Amino acid sequence: MTKVVHKFGGSSLSSATRYKAVANIVLGHCKAGDCVVVSAAGKTTNTLVKLWQSYVQQDDKAFNDILLQVENHQRQLLSELFSEASAQSLRSQLQDELVTIAKAANARTLHEATLLAHGEVWSARLLAHLLNTLNVSASDVDARGLFAQHQGQLLHAQNKQACLSQIDTSKINVVTGFIAADCDGNTITLGRNGSDYSATLLANYIDAEAVSIWTDTQGVFSTDPRKVGSAVKYPKVCRVQANLLARLGNPVLHAKTLSPLKDTNIKLQVRSSYEPEIIGTEIVKQGYSKEKRFITTFEELDLIRVEELVNGEVRTLSQLIQHSIHHFSKGGEDYLLVPSNDTHAVATHLQGRGNIVETHLRGVALVAPEYEITQLSQQAAVVLEQQDVVIRFTHSDSNYALFLTDQSIDSDVLAILHDKLVNKGREIAVIIAGLGNVGEVFVEQCQAQIEKLQAAFDLKVVALLRSKEMLFCPSGISISNWQQQWRSESQHYSQADLLERISELDYEHKVIIDITASDAFSDMYPSFVEQDCHLISANKYAGTAPRNWYAKLLEQLQERNLFWRYNTSVGAGLPINFALADLQNSGDKVTRIEGVFSGTLSWLCSSYDGSQPFSDLVIKAQQMGYTEPDPREDLSGRDMQRKLLILARDLGLELDVEDIELEPLMPTHLAQGDWGAFLANKQDLDVFYAQRAEQAARDGKALRYTGALDIDEHGKVAAKVGIAYVESGSAIANLTPGDNIFVITSQWYQQNPLVIQGPGAGKEVTAAGIHSDLYWLTQNLK
Ligand code: ADP
Ligand code: ASP
Ligand code: MG
Repeated sequence: MTKVVHKFGGSSLSSATRYKAVANIVLGHCKAGDCVVVSAAGKTTNTLVKLWQSYVQQDDKAFNDILLQVENHQRQLLSELFSEASAQSLRSQLQDELVTIAKAANARTLHEATLLAHGEVWSARLLAHLLNTLNVSASDVDARGLFAQHQGQLLHAQNKQACLSQIDTSKINVVTGFIAADCDGNTITLGRNGSDYSATLLANYIDAEAVSIWTDTQGVFSTDPRKVGSAVKYPKVCRVQANLLARLGNPVLHAKTLSPLKDTNIKLQVRSSYEPEIIGTEIVKQGYSKEKRFITTFEELDLIRVEELVNGEVRTLSQLIQHSIHHFSKGGEDYLLVPSNDTHAVATHLQGRGNIVETHLRGVALVAPEYEITQLSQQAAVVLEQQDVVIRFTHSDSNYALFLTDQSIDSDVLAILHDKLVNKGREIAVIIAGLGNVGEVFVEQCQAQIEKLQAAFDLKVVALLRSKEMLFCPSGISISNWQQQWRSESQHYSQADLLERISELDYEHKVIIDITASDAFSDMYPSFVEQDCHLISANKYAGTAPRNWYAKLLEQLQERNLFWRYNTSVGAGLPINFALADLQNSGDKVTRIEGVFSGTLSWLCSSYDGSQPFSDLVIKAQQMGYTEPDPREDLSGRDMQRKLLILARDLGLELDVEDIELEPLMPTHLAQGDWGAFLANKQDLDVFYAQRAEQAARDGKALRYTGALDIDEHGKVAAKVGIAYVESGSAIANLTPGDNIFVITSQWYQQNPLVIQGPGAGKEVTAAGIHSDLYWLTQNLK
């Protein structure tokens, strides 16, 4: 049976609420036999470290205060999670342990690792009990019985045996992270942040299929997303880069995490316990992902030059201080970057071979592909100088560069560095669905557009889709001869195939451009969004879908910081959605939108002068390809009704299609039957139209087919699509046949409304309108 190891870090267990959230994730993601590795709750290990320091310094007052703080924290978690009776045994176990700690401190026999281990022991016990109260069969497992080490080396064969015999396949095993034992059964730890390592080690021993590291960010980002809002989440990061980041002290993964996965096929992903529905970052083997750019920061490090560094000594030293140590060679000399607090211990151990070069350093490291590192590190040096950061020490290697300084690199400087060094290299994968009239022109126009965007973005068309066939090429399709590639490489596909191919794409951003007229394709939008795709639609289905579905989609997009543009779904290339957004963003209030949003109906009404029956015009329009195959689809007004709904939703109104009154441009009975039946009775349409046109003429007005949306001062909405008698001489009456018009009345545009008018259909303008959405997207991703 395949097993999965899940690891929850302290950040995922920082309060009773977070424990409940974790229990929920376990309920949804784990099965019997899986392992859940836990860290100490929140910052418990930090507090225990302080407790140890006060013990070493023999500061009894501080010791007692901190011990009380630890106790209160644990008691609070217990009381918030369980009833008095249910927590009884946990409370008395805790009490016994605290008494033991206090006694050992008094007797001066306290042992550091044993003290620190309590954090993880409490966590595992608490989570297992919480799962039991939720009727999940789970038990806590102390990793000191699983992981043994001798002289700094894990005893793999023995440990594997221990894991296989102790991991219960009928239960969920909640295992303590961070801790292990030596051969004599004494507690040791795997170093700060070591629970990630516990998880991958365990996965190796039990031959698990996958490891999920659940933390408080959505995955591995280009830089700390807590400090830089524009940090980019990478869907895939290769093991080599993840390892380097870890060795540089980045907290998202611990330094040794990857070593147990070497030569295995165990999958590793980092994801958020705060947003469990969001796909995180997969750490993949070399060659399965492009190398990315990262910036990571340092705090409080000392730089030590070591004479005659011995093989394995860095490992011994990091074990000694329970912290990873970054080591590098420069100019034939060996250097260590050691947390300032631990310099004394390291220097003592080195017995005079360690020269402290710099103390209390901060700084940044840039991680990037080898071919970029020289240029990027030069740029970084310039940016840091411009920001008045004085560099005290630099070092660069084939895939990273270090800049050490004695000033803290604040979020502003980090954001500027990130903007200049990381954002420039942004990649977008473009998936184009629908290669009809508009789609083909859109692809044709891509060549020139991509060149224009290339300066800031690495944009590649990776897929072209027709309804049943697709051409999918993750490295990019050559747009100038896509037809040829299509002929030789396109393949039949199912929706599942498409989603799978999208999930494999290794790009920072993905965008689906929907130029289909398919409702089945727009039904897939939520799945695309789940794969972190931005959306651009010319298709109206999703924008006019039932409110629940639509609202959920918007919510999903917002959660993932994704964009959805659909400017061409109304008025083709005319910038109507931009105008509405602009007015609202500038504090204006739209009170009315009126207009003609159908090229066909615009042409029919504006061309009619009574000299020929209306149905003749309809047939003529059909022959010229101005109408839907059955022109009654146009005459029904439903297309305009949908467009008005999209505009209404753009104004933030919560409407559904049925909330817009619809009066077709034909007698109702003509909608029945086939096209032949219509032709047999077409004179009914002529009479219908002529009567209304004559009425309009008598009143000195013009007959037009319009959509109108009114919002009164109380916010009440009236929306209708149908026949309108408009003032002759007005913009709507004078509309060029075939053009669309939008007349917008607002607080600022009251006397003289804002008018947007022009061709509202046609493949070139529509394709260009879609490019305008794509351009907008790239600008907003910067
Ligand atoms: P845990 O308690 O789950 O082990 P850590 O605090 O050890 O979590 O690590 C997660 C933290 O790492 C995040 O809260 C984030 O602030 C920080 N971090 C720094 N750099 C990155 C990065 N490039 N990507 C993601 N998180 C990062
Ligand atoms: N609790 C330990 C620490 O804070 C181990 C871990 O969180 O991974 O370092
Ligand atoms: Mg961590």
